This record gives sequence, structure tokens and C-alpha cells, in this order.
Amino acid sequence: MPNQTLVMKFGGTSVGSTEALINAMQIIRDARAEWPRLVVVTSAMAGVTNLLLDSASQAAHGNINSLPEAEKTLREKHFAAADELVQDENPCLETKQEINALILSFVDLCKAIAVLGEASPRALDAVASLGERMSVRLLGAIVENTGIKSEVIEATEFIITNDHFQNAHPVIKVTTEKTRRILKPLLDEGIIPITTGFIGATPDGVITTLGRGGSDYSAAIIGAVLPADDVWIWTDVDGVMTTDPRIVPSARTLPEITYSEIAELAYYGAKVLHPKTIRPVVEAGIGLRICNTFNPSHPGTRLIANAKSNGKPVNGRVVKAVTAIRKQRLITVEGRGMLGVPGVAARAFGAVASTGTSVPLITQASSEQSICFAVPDETAAPVVNALEKAFADELEERDIDRIWKTEDVSIITVVGVGMIHTPGVAGQIFSQLGKNNVNVLAIAQGSSEVSISMVVSAEDTELAVKALHELIVK
Ligand code: ADP
Ligand code: ASP
Ligand code: MG
Repeated sequence: MPNQTLVMKFGGTSVGSTEALINAMQIIRDARAEWPRLVVVTSAMAGVTNLLLDSASQAAHGNINSLPEAEKTLREKHFAAADELVQDENPCLETKQEINALILSFVDLCKAIAVLGEASPRALDAVASLGERMSVRLLGAIVENTGIKSEVIEATEFIITNDHFQNAHPVIKVTTEKTRRILKPLLDEGIIPITTGFIGATPDGVITTLGRGGSDYSAAIIGAVLPADDVWIWTDVDGVMTTDPRIVPSARTLPEITYSEIAELAYYGAKVLHPKTIRPVVEAGIGLRICNTFNPSHPGTRLIANAKSNGKPVNGRVVKAVTAIRKQRLITVEGRGMLGVPGVAARAFGAVASTGTSVPLITQASSEQSICFAVPDETAAPVVNALEKAFADELEERDIDRIWKTEDVSIITVVGVGMIHTPGVAGQIFSQLGKNNVNVLAIAQGSSEVSISMVVSAEDTELAVKALHELIVK
């Protein structure tokens, strides 16, 4: 493929152990033979980001007792792989020293957090970024050790973002300019840039992160701005599947998926792809493939343009996939006095927005006597407070009877382009849930008409996913 550019991203499990790293290295070697221009993006080793952030949040509560244990785990994880896979003594030692310096800065950061008694979003990003900053050095040394020309670069050099710490947004113009300026000369010389997923920096050089699971997004940004021809996301399953294989082991890989289907799936909880990954690749018109580091010969899943799917049922089934988002609460604002009063919804969502909460699902009863929406579990209490304040007068006057939240619920979403053209799908879905005694608390149809979402009690999550999955594979 003369002059074609490929961006490959390896997820946490794909670089999470010596065995995984051997696979990743072989995948890079094979891709090198096919693609003259190759960029590699890596996540932190599996479990590392969680460990870093847990330590930081404990430190914020004044607890640094488990720091030595965390430090030890980080050393063992990275050093074991370096010892095994970087045979040359000097590069191995150098890599371990660099990683050790990062571990020491992790310890310093946590101690500083403990002294302050709080962890600001900016400090949390500094801590969380260390996972990728360690793994990129490890992977770089392993690739270099095989004799492949590569260079480790932190994405803070070229992914420039705003200062919305923990969920930063790239500034595309500068990012494009810097990414091209830094990566292109390497690609021209046949050197593989190996870079960090998940992280960026503000124009002043302060480290930011793109949100949990954001390495997929990093790969998409790099692919879009270069631009590359293809972006491949290497993970631990055979692509995008009919549902999470951890819930239904018999879930099948979808060989193709449309933009709007994957957008709904990712948004409604299919962890396999970060929801922000899709827009950059679609806008840049580049290919996206999701494939398995542990089964590299499997073709995985290819993203296809919406227009290529005629919406006809696949294998006679219109429902293509089922997902679940757990740990949500439904909030209801209800009262007969709301009937026909303009602006209630606007005020309600204004109050929700003031808490910085995003709302994944909204339903409104046609009677206008209630507004009901879902929010993440941990935001429910502040959201109810904000609503009670915003509607203090109406509550006093009893125009609004009450504002309340449910117990833990899950949003179950059924996705499939064919659903638009097929009457009776909703009927099938609800009778399937009914047959399985799953009580539906609320319903919403995605605006794209590619999905239908239902809210069920937390304890019904697995049952609902399994029951709906039968509509796909039965
Ligand atoms: P990575 O570390 O490679 O980014 P993630 O853990 O973020 O991997 O995402 C992969 C996981 O997503 C899979 O192991 C699987 O359990 C989960 N998953 C959830 N829904 C789906 C789905 N529809 N198809 C495939 N995997 C899914
Ligand atoms: N390491 C980061 C996380 O765990 C980013 C990623 O894996 O995509 O959230
Ligand atoms: Mg991921």
C-alpha cells in the first residue's frame, strides 16, 4: 500500500501483560510490512489508570497508607514486561529508569494531594496521565528491541486541548498543525511514532485527559488530522459484538456496522469504542476497524457509511445489538400544575445543566404532567437539589407536587438501522421483556430512529440484555 497511512491503537489489555505485548509487537511488525506509514497509539497497561486514580482519591481523604503497595504494583507490572521483552541491557535499564521516575512523581503528586486534602481535576489529570506515559516507554523499547525503527513521543507535544480537565476537548487547528509538523517527518523516514492515548496538553503545556477510555478518541484525532487512511482499534474482543460478551458469552461479532449504529451503541454503553471516536473519522472520511489483539487473524468489525446500509434486516433480524449503561437514576418532576405551563422543561434542564450533568435519556408523558430523565447515579442528589431550588415557588404553590429519584436503574438500548423501516419491532421488544418479567420504567426512542432505549431496575439488567439478545440470535 504505497504511501498509505495507518493509525493503530492498542487498548489496556492489549498491552496489559507480557503475552499481550508480544502479540502487540507482532501486530506492529506485520502492519509495518504492509503499511509504509504507521502510527501506534497506546493505552496504559490494564488496571493502571484505575490504580492511579484510586490512589489519588484516597490521598485526597488523607490516606496514603496504600501508596507503597501501589508503587510496588506499578513497578512489578512494567518492569516484568521490560525484563522479559527488552533483551538489550542498556535500553532495558534506561526504560525502567524512566518509568521509575514517573512512579516517583506519582508518589509525590499523591503526597501533595494528601497535604492539600483535595484533588483538583487538574491534579487528577496529572496523575492519570502517568499510565500512558509509562506504557508508551515500555512499548517503545519493546518495538525498538525487535529492530523496527520507532520513536516515543508523548501526545502532549501535539494534541492541544482546552483546559476542561478530565474531559478535555482538542483544539483542532493547533492540533492539526502540530501533529503534522511532528509526525510527518518521522513517517517520511519510515520511523513509527509510538505515542500516548488519552492525554493532551493545554496551549500552556498543562497535561489534560480526554475522558476515561479516551485512547480510542486519541487515535481518531491523530488519524483525522494527519490524515490517515485507516484507524484500527486493537482490543480484547473480536470487534463490535451483538452485546457485551461478559453478559452474553454467545454474543457474535458484527462484521460491519454503520456510523449511526456505532454512535448509538457507544453512547449507550458499549465500552468497546469511546463515543467520541466516531465523529473525527466520519468527518475525515477515513476507515475504522475494531479488531482483537488476541485473535489478530479475525477480520473484526468495519465501520461503513450509513448510505451503504439499505436498512434491510440482517439475517432476517432488524435488531443488531443490545447495550446497557448501569448505575443511573431516573429523576421525575411531577405535578398537575405543570400542564401547559411554558418553559418548565427549559428551566428543569437549565437546573440540571447548572450542576454540569449530562442527561443520557429523556421521556415526557404526553399529558405534560411529568418530566422524567436519567442521570448518572452519583449526580442524582445534586441534580434533585438544583431542581428543588429552581422550582421552589412551584413546590410551595403545589403546582409541582414532587421531585424525586428512583433507586439504581440501567438504560438498555436496542440498536439496528433496519428498525426504522420495520413495523412491530417495538412490539417484539416489549413482549420479549414482558415474557421475561422485566418491568420497563421508562422508554425513549433515539432521535436517529436507530435505537430504542428502556430503563429497567438495576437487578433486571442482565435479564433484560439476555432476553433482548435472543431477538438477534434466536
Ligand atoms: P480497551 O482496553 O481495549 O479499550 P475496553 O475494555 O475499553 O478495551 O473495551 C472492550 C470491552 O468492551 C470488551 O472486553 C467487552 O467486554 C466490552 N463490550 C461492551 N459492549 C460490547 C460490544 N457490544 N461489543 C464488544 N465488546 C463490548
Ligand atoms: N487508560 C485510560 C483509561 O483507562 C484510557 C484508555 O484506556 O482508553 O481510561
Ligand atoms: Mg477502551
